[in-house]
Amino acid sequence: MTSTPVTSTPGTNTSADLVILGGGSGGYACALRAAQLGLSVILVEKDKLGGTCLHRGCIPTKALLQAAEVADAARDGHQFGVKAALEGIDMGGVNKYKDGVVAKMFKGLQGLVSSRGINYVEGTGRFVAPNAVDVDGQRYLGRSIVLATGSYAKSLPDLEIGGRFITSDQALNLDYLPDRVVVLGGGVIGVEFASVWRSFGAEVTVVEALPRLLPAEDDFCSKQLERAFRRRGITFRTGVRFTGANQSNSGVTVNLASGEQFEADLLLVAVGRGPNTADAGYAEAGVRMERGFVLTDDRLRTNLPGVYALGDIVPGLQLAHRGFAQGIFLAEDIAGRNPTPIDEDGIPRVTYCEPQVASVGLTEVQAKDRHGEIETITYDLAGNGRSQILQTRGAIKLVRAKNGPVLGIHLVGDRVGELVGEAQLIVNWEAYPEDVAALVHAHPTQNEALGEAHLALAGKPLHAHS
Ligand SMILES: Cc1cc2nc3c(=O)[nH]c(=O)nc-3n(C[C@H](O)[C@H](O)[C@H](O)COP(=O)(O)OP(=O)(O)OC[C@H]3O[C@@H](n4cnc5c(N)ncnc54)[C@H](O)[C@@H]3O)c2cc1C
Repeated sequence: MTSTPVTSTPGTNTSADLVILGGGSGGYACALRAAQLGLSVILVEKDKLGGTCLHRGCIPTKALLQAAEVADAARDGHQFGVKAALEGIDMGGVNKYKDGVVAKMFKGLQGLVSSRGINYVEGTGRFVAPNAVDVDGQRYLGRSIVLATGSYAKSLPDLEIGGRFITSDQALNLDYLPDRVVVLGGGVIGVEFASVWRSFGAEVTVVEALPRLLPAEDDFCSKQLERAFRRRGITFRTGVRFTGANQSNSGVTVNLASGEQFEADLLLVAVGRGPNTADAGYAEAGVRMERGFVLTDDRLRTNLPGVYALGDIVPGLQLAHRGFAQGIFLAEDIAGRNPTPIDEDGIPRVTYCEPQVASVGLTEVQAKDRHGEIETITYDLAGNGRSQILQTRGAIKLVRAKNGPVLGIHLVGDRVGELVGEAQLIVNWEAYPEDVAALVHAHPTQNEALGEAHLALAGKPLHAHS
């Protein structure tokens, strides 16, 4: 797939109300909203409009996870009385489906940017002054500048990516299915790929230095996920340091501080993402940074007047919808609409492995730290009709301030990512369990499990033991 420029005419429109450096989720969302508000916009992108999320992140991984779900359904058809068999995985076919989804969305996005009259400039930009970005010798001036250059897959010292040592970038484009994989890193990206490969039939081992998988989530989610991964035959080692790996023509050997050694076809390095800020001129122009991240206040202002930053280069959750929201916020702020700053605690998080993990708000530990006395309840999906129909296990955990609003919702089970919409309304509108308990939830849906969890927390459990 080649990237076609949307509207770039070198030498024209070289000044605008707003120049945005980076056309990923955050950058293009900012451009679209700013144009809608009547600002003139120059959007500079060196690769493909849509950035990591569309081309190397959210969309292609979720397409792989969808293919994985289909593979599981074929394999498990007998559980539902359906005679089906999983004959195998055709990676060519999987990639065609995945690339088709990306291509369609890419085309739609290009059309959208073009239709809003945004001056799209293809090329590598360099931030040279608080009102200027240079691209291939051409200077673009903006009354405001938004830095939105995103992130890259990190590795560890002495672990050079290449050959059988891969990151998510290469993992998304494998044209074969490995028999055995070691995944280094039990965070979101690591467990999502572990889940895909296991569904496709590979032997998978996840290695995580911290004591549990998904260490940023509530402990409850990690426990539920680990139990499910054990049932699925996914091996994992937590609380153990990786000490090194070797590769040869035939495979990789991965060593752990425990003395254990794992052999595999591939090592996926999923140890986090670093900010793309080293080569864009930020430090030279005096932008205040820490460990490569651009520092901003809660209105996303950097230390330089008229210069803002958003998305993965700003410390916080590295999520596409955070980037979208920040982009919209900044466009409105720059247009003088005085929007309310984004509450980072209210941003929902979903890990799309099987089973899914979704959450919003505070973990139990954070809630205790900030609110002192709290109450929690766990509702088992065993009591939820739709979950039984889906044959999924899992649970919902609610955290509330003592006699106060719901502070955090944590969900584990098939398809619970789709429940996070209701969960975020509850948390962000600071609802009390009694408010939610009074709302009638449709039967049999998984949303009903959220309703029942709140009934239980309000002291009147229905399909749950008190
Ligand atoms: C495997 C994977 C799965 C993910 N899954 C999810 C998910 O399910 N849900 C979710 O919310 N998030 C997910 N993410 C995270 C999400 O992709 C990022 O948070 C999001 O893309 C960040 O947006 P951004 O605009 O900050 O940066 P990016 O999307 O990285 O965009 C930055 C853009 O800037 C361009 N650029 C960089 N330097 C320059 C320069 N000097 N000149 C011009 N252009 C430049 C880059 O080419 C890029 O297009 C996933 C990420 C990965 C890697």
